[in-house]
Amino acid sequence: MGKKVVIVGGVAGGATAAARLRRLDEEADIVLLERGDHISFANCGLPYYIGDEIRERDKLLLQTPERMRRRFNIDVRVRSEVVRVDPVRKTVTVRCLDGKAPVAGDPGRTNGGGNGTARDAVAAGDAGRETVYEETYDVLLLSPGARPMQPPIPGIDSERVHTLRNMADADRIRRHADRAGARSAIVIGGGFIGVEMAENLRRRGLEVTLAEAAPHILAPFDDDMVPLAERELTDHGVRLVLGNGVVSFAERDDGLTVTLQNGETVRADLALLAIGVTPDVAFLEGSGIALGPRGHILVNDRMQTNLPDIYAVGDAVEVTDFVHGGKTAVPLAGPANKQARIAADNICGIPSRYKGAQGTSIVKVFGLTAASTGLNERMLRRLNIPYRTVHLHPGSHAGYYPGASPLSLKLLFADDGRILGAQALGRDGVDKRIDVIAAVMRLGGTVRDLAELELAYAPPYSSAKDPVNMAGWIAGNVLDGRMDVVTVRDLDGLDRSRVVLVDVRTAEEHARGHIPGSVHIPVDELRDRLGELPRDKEIWVYCQVGQRGYYASRLLAQKDFRVKNLSGGYRSYVIAKDSPGTRSGG
Ligand code: FAD
Repeated sequence: MGKKVVIVGGVAGGATAAARLRRLDEEADIVLLERGDHISFANCGLPYYIGDEIRERDKLLLQTPERMRRRFNIDVRVRSEVVRVDPVRKTVTVRCLDGKAPVAGDPGRTNGGGNGTARDAVAAGDAGRETVYEETYDVLLLSPGARPMQPPIPGIDSERVHTLRNMADADRIRRHADRAGARSAIVIGGGFIGVEMAENLRRRGLEVTLAEAAPHILAPFDDDMVPLAERELTDHGVRLVLGNGVVSFAERDDGLTVTLQNGETVRADLALLAIGVTPDVAFLEGSGIALGPRGHILVNDRMQTNLPDIYAVGDAVEVTDFVHGGKTAVPLAGPANKQARIAADNICGIPSRYKGAQGTSIVKVFGLTAASTGLNERMLRRLNIPYRTVHLHPGSHAGYYPGASPLSLKLLFADDGRILGAQALGRDGVDKRIDVIAAVMRLGGTVRDLAELELAYAPPYSSAKDPVNMAGWIAGNVLDGRMDVVTVRDLDGLDRSRVVLVDVRTAEEHARGHIPGSVHIPVDELRDRLGELPRDKEIWVYCQVGQRGYYASRLLAQKDFRVKNLSGGYRSYVIAKDSPGTRSGG
């Protein structure tokens, strides 16, 4: 008889681990315990189901308990909540939410070969409809995920305040949005789920306010990039309130009154609370399984907890950050799936290792795509890691082929060229650029490697100089001292007695808008007008996206001026200054 593996949680991590375990070990007894009604549903698809982008509910149910039983011979028990883990007796206590504990020999609940796992179940009590029983294990694998944070804000228990984690939540939100008279929604929190829900509630026909307590939405992005996403939201009718969290909800006859930190009130028919997630690990209390400072299960690189027969994966665990090597938590589906495979391997004696998460992520914001990988400036500053940045705004593909659109890309890297992170926003080609950079990072590559990559090119798809190559070249120029760059942030508090700002674009471009106080000398006239520039000051040049600024900076440097180029040019300046959200007190 094989070893008995009990898995807690039957969605991303749990179901993946169960299937991998079976593929590796035909003899194992595998019991999958899931509190909800469904296993292996597409939680990432829920916002799009709410917005009717995904119309068929069944499409979200990737795997049913019956199919999982038939194909993988896994004893799947839904509506079965683990409420306690006893590592000494090697048991879990299961609350059976339908009131039926599994019985030995029940073909619907046990492994077909007669190695019934339920034989170990011991009815331990019956509280009304709920039955509680114990299940033994040889190895326990925890993938309980994370639940939406619900701080004790007055009125948060209102049935008009929703969170989104599972199918039942999605069904409830759809019903509520479709109620007669429902016209408006407030989304609280501008993370991935909040932004996706703002879009999809708009698609469902509601007026939407998105309130974010931080100065900007989408925390993985820096404040010089994220305004593009903020503008996209407001351009699609989302009212964006930044720097202003929620302090209370109050039910009225005609809906919900939401009071924000600055005292402003917003009326809405329903609210979606999406301010982050917290590990769903209350059932581990008293188990001796070590937890981190924010309640995450601590694991080693084999996904093993401090108790050798207990593994944990997914949103509930703390892992190593691939870039800085410290601890982090990345509640995303990719890491959960990979960790699940690694845990299953180790349970079956294969020494796979998890090398850490780099937080590669992507989100659709109406017509825009925003993606990032690695660390952003905020994190690098917090960790005291020295870094450099370059910004560029190339076309998504060759400009002469119809349909090209600008892509804004920011690369963060160390003095030795190691890539620390990247962010990109645009309408086309964002995903592949970030994925390529993420892959190079994963393989320990540097900005020099980005420059050398040979990437697929034909005019409809890219340029012979792909944006990823260009990022590598620009970063290489910075590292080699061929170009000194400043960023938009350096313009704040600029000492004009020390620096002259020169716009090297055309007269038309300058007339359409420029950085206040800049001198205008087009790059093509620069050679003849050097005498207009002071030699006792630094010259900061800028063009539209940085390229002509580079030519100008090369010319001036060779004429012995102290020159710096504004990274990303005027386009970066406009993006950084263009955050459209109303702010607390402003
Ligand atoms: P889950 O998939 O959440 O599974 C945990 C399961 O364990 C739950 O079903 C829960 O009911 C069950 N459980 C918990 N405690 C117990 C218990 N005591 N007993 C029995 N069962 C228990 N990630 C991305 O990478 N890209 C996306 O686009 C994306 N979109 C998302 C959209 C939404 C709306 C949500 C909610 C999440 C999204 N995610 C996305 C995150 C992704 O879904 C998670 O990272 C992933 O599902 C984590 O897997 P997990 O196995 O750790 O947890």
